[in-house]
Amino acid sequence: MAESPEGGLWVGTEKGLFWLPRGASQLLPVAERKGAGLGHPAVLGLLMDRRGWLWIDTAVGLHLLKAWDGKEVAFERISEAQGRADRAFGANMLEDARGRIWTQQQVYDPNKKSVYELTAADGADYGTGWFRSYTALADGRLLFGGSKGLLVVEPERFRPWEHAPPLVVSELRIDGLNRQTGDLLEGLTLQPKQRGFSVEFAALDFTDPARSQYEYRLQGYDAEWIRTGSNYRVAAYSNLSPGRYTLQVRATNRVGTWSSHELVIPIEVLPAWWQQTWFQALAVLAALGAVLGVVQLRTQMLQRRQLELEQRVQQRTAELEAVSLALKESSLTDPLTGLRNRRFLTQHIEADVAVSLRRHEAALQRGEPAPADGDLIFFLIDIDEFKRVNDAHGHAAGDAVLTQMRGRLEPVFRATDWLVRWGGEEFLIVARSTSRQHAAELAERVRTAVASQPFVLDDGRLLQRSCSLGFACFPLAVAHPRALDWSATLDLADAALYAAKRSGRNAWAGVTDAGDLDPATLRQRGSSAEWLASGELPLLRSAAVS
Ligand code: GH3
Ligand code: MG
Ligand code: MG
Repeated sequence: MAESPEGGLWVGTEKGLFWLPRGASQLLPVAERKGAGLGHPAVLGLLMDRRGWLWIDTAVGLHLLKAWDGKEVAFERISEAQGRADRAFGANMLEDARGRIWTQQQVYDPNKKSVYELTAADGADYGTGWFRSYTALADGRLLFGGSKGLLVVEPERFRPWEHAPPLVVSELRIDGLNRQTGDLLEGLTLQPKQRGFSVEFAALDFTDPARSQYEYRLQGYDAEWIRTGSNYRVAAYSNLSPGRYTLQVRATNRVGTWSSHELVIPIEVLPAWWQQTWFQALAVLAALGAVLGVVQLRTQMLQRRQLELEQRVQQRTAELEAVSLALKESSLTDPLTGLRNRRFLTQHIEADVAVSLRRHEAALQRGEPAPADGDLIFFLIDIDEFKRVNDAHGHAAGDAVLTQMRGRLEPVFRATDWLVRWGGEEFLIVARSTSRQHAAELAERVRTAVASQPFVLDDGRLLQRSCSLGFACFPLAVAHPRALDWSATLDLADAALYAAKRSGRNAWAGVTDAGDLDPATLRQRGSSAEWLASGELPLLRSAAVS
């Protein structure tokens, strides 16, 4: 219990602090301000000092009452602030003449706000202190009872322990082997083959060496200080990278004050040859070289592959072109005779007609005579009584005759003329860029070429055949080139062929010009056969062959 200057009583219990107002007969619980209560509810000691300050000791140390409004209290947690909340302050609290608060274990100086722990080294060697066994004498001395006797404190003579112990290296080991510590402070050099070292150190405070604390740090390696107690005073490192480091060690005296004396040991770890800059640069260069080499090789390979691909593409393209040309040719060629087919003619005839018209119209415009090479002549050639070849000698014999027709026709015409198998045993020949004056002569040459020598069958037999021809020239009316188109001209040639057939075969008939027919008549003509039969057009005929 502690009496308040204003009257009233503070009562400490196992369950906290209570207040007994003056004249009251019942303890009142006190509410604690949030965050400013007692660190532990079990009150071990109370002291009301001369200033009227209330000191409270609990299982977690010293507290000071800072505020009390009759309802709520607030405490300052002193031991906790000093990092000493792990135990009680000592329970038996006494105040000395300077206002310092003592127990047999610790002393707190409110002016310096410092706690000092009393140990055997300070002379406080009393065994176990007894709770409630304490008092202050009138001369200022403080008494505390303990298991070994009475502790007498003369506060005026008390001096806190401020010794700053020197620090020494007590052992050096490299790769586990003991070495001379010698002039270690000058520096330690580790050879490339040496893997690790350990340094043992000691603070020279013999009053209570077990209470010294140590910290060490290898600058260049450790980010933080490493704390260690007096029972393991060794800093050990191994497998450090080559380079320069500094080992720092510091220690406290027995009361926890850091000594101003520190150990500072420069350490150099030498690189192995393969760890040196020149070698590493070389290695980097070699690696770069290798990468470059691989890249170059790969590039070359890719280039070669690309070339191969390009060549293959070119080859394929050429092949395709050849194939497509062959296809095109075959689609325009008669498979039996190798001559052009109808398809070919329809594709080309318009261009020929255009050239012919241009030449004639140009001459007409200039008032010149008709051009010597501006005509097209359509010859229709039909083998006479061909059906009988098939009937008498078989279809193959017919084919042989048709095939040999090519050899009869080609020598008569120019290479630039169109030789077309028009269908069955009928051929159409378009003599191009020529003059109609040659028409009759060409017709006669064809007739002769067919009839003058026999065809040879596969079995060697000879077969005499003849043919009939009809022809018509384009443009038919030179004065009016567009009066009759090419297909009407072809119809005329067909009609002329008919006429030749009727005349007894092995003959030709043809129309080279429209005489002096006007364009209106030309356009209003009936069928070609009737027209030809009407005698309006001048018809040329071959001489009768006996
Ligand atoms: P004409 O003198 O009146 O022209 O008498 P023709 O027998 O030649 O006339 P027609 O048109 O009656 O007969 C033509 C024959 O040609 C009919 C057909 O059997 C034959 N023929 C058509 N194309 C081929 C072919 O590719 N090969 C063979 N072997 N015969 C063919
Ligand atoms: Mg026929
Ligand atoms: Mg025929």
